[in-house]
Amino acid sequence: MNHVLIATSNDGKLRDFAGAAVSFDIEIVPVPNFAALPPVIEDGLTFEENARKKAEAYSSAAPGEIVLADDSGLEVDALKGAPGVHSARYAADAPHLMDNNTDDAANNARLLRELKDVPSDKRSGRFVCVLAAARNGQTLEVFRAEVEGTILNRPRGTNGFGYDPLFYFPQIQKAFAELTSEEKAQYSHRGAAFRQFLAWYQLMKNGTTT
Ligand code: IMP
Repeated sequence: MNHVLIATSNDGKLRDFAGAAVSFDIEIVPVPNFAALPPVIEDGLTFEENARKKAEAYSSAAPGEIVLADDSGLEVDALKGAPGVHSARYAADAPHLMDNNTDDAANNARLLRELKDVPSDKRSGRFVCVLAAARNGQTLEVFRAEVEGTILNRPRGTNGFGYDPLFYFPQIQKAFAELTSEEKAQYSHRGAAFRQFLAWYQLMKNGTTT
């Protein structure tokens, strides 16, 4: 079976990728010794910059392998796109100056605080996922997908990770934390970006692209 290395230590992302790969002939494997590799500072201004940075750095540590890196987050319109690229450390006083992630519960609490006075019809937002595929330190291709929803006033559901309990997906009237892993793969930004990657990967394997 073909395999692709994923450069992440985020268990939620790993579960999402494993779920998205289930019906395809491909195995998702963490980059070997990921925790021992020098961390990549995610100081890019866009998801794409950070995804490329991670894919390039970690693919240098696994010569010849395709390494996929995910940079993702939540953009809320009423917050002018925040938390955006700072989604993983939104609970920090100055998320743009922080290297370390803050925990999901604290990030969700901050999101609810920031939106406390925002009525339900003004709570639109989206999850964004950018995947960069790199080999030997060079980005080969970038994939981007988004999913639109609204931000709830209180958490719903116990599945998923991150902001999933606060992200309501009107199409099937569920919060993302109420989705099964099959549904998350089907509807999420990560599932959609991963399917774009797979289409490219199949072409590449057949020798019709880079
Ligand atoms: P990154 O590791 O810098 O890409 O940060 C991603 C952050 O965005 C995560 O820690 C979550 O807070 C949030 N996020 C991204 N994708 C999802 C998702 O599928 N569900 C919930 N939160 C997500």
